Amino acid sequence: MDVAQTLNKKLAIGWFTFTCSEDSTILFTELLNKHFDEWKKLIDFKHVKSLKTKNELKDLDVAFVEGAVSSKTQEEEVKKVRENAKYVVAIGQCACTGMPSASRNAFEDTDIDDRIRWYLEHFDYNKKVQKLEDVIKVDDKVEGCPMNTTKFLSVMDKYLNLFNII
Ligand code: SF4
Repeated sequence: MDVAQTLNKKLAIGWFTFTCSEDSTILFTELLNKHFDEWKKLIDFKHVKSLKTKNELKDLDVAFVEGAVSSKTQEEEVKKVRENAKYVVAIGQCACTGMPSASRNAFEDTDIDDRIRWYLEHFDYNKKVQKLEDVIKVDDKVEGCPMNTTKFLSVMDKYLNLFNII
């Protein structure tokens, strides 16, 4: 038995959602149907708003971040996640490449009708939607729209191994 197992160390994870449709969050919670019994012994779900209301953004081993970054507020939030996590994994195409959430970057002025203008004027949206890597350092990517669950499981295993949990 290694040191981490002896100390009962768990992988402290966070799951965060920015501009997106949250489909990868749904896939993540679906994966719990199969993996929860195993993961609860190995993983500390420290900041996962889809699972619980009491969350702590502090000393995370891995932060999984879904969605693109589309406002100053989101930029600040995502930087806070980076400061409090040893590793950050971009989840899904919006976080990895910006698209499809960044579709509006290609809008011409003539595409902006009154309805769109109302949103732009009433929220603190940036001019351009950014992929996660444009704002913070990203250590891994799980691409797919929504995320590829096989890749996600292999990334989870990678970090469980890296932190000597398994
Ligand atoms: S990558 Fe696709 S599924 Fe995931 S949030 Fe973006 S649009 Fe939704």
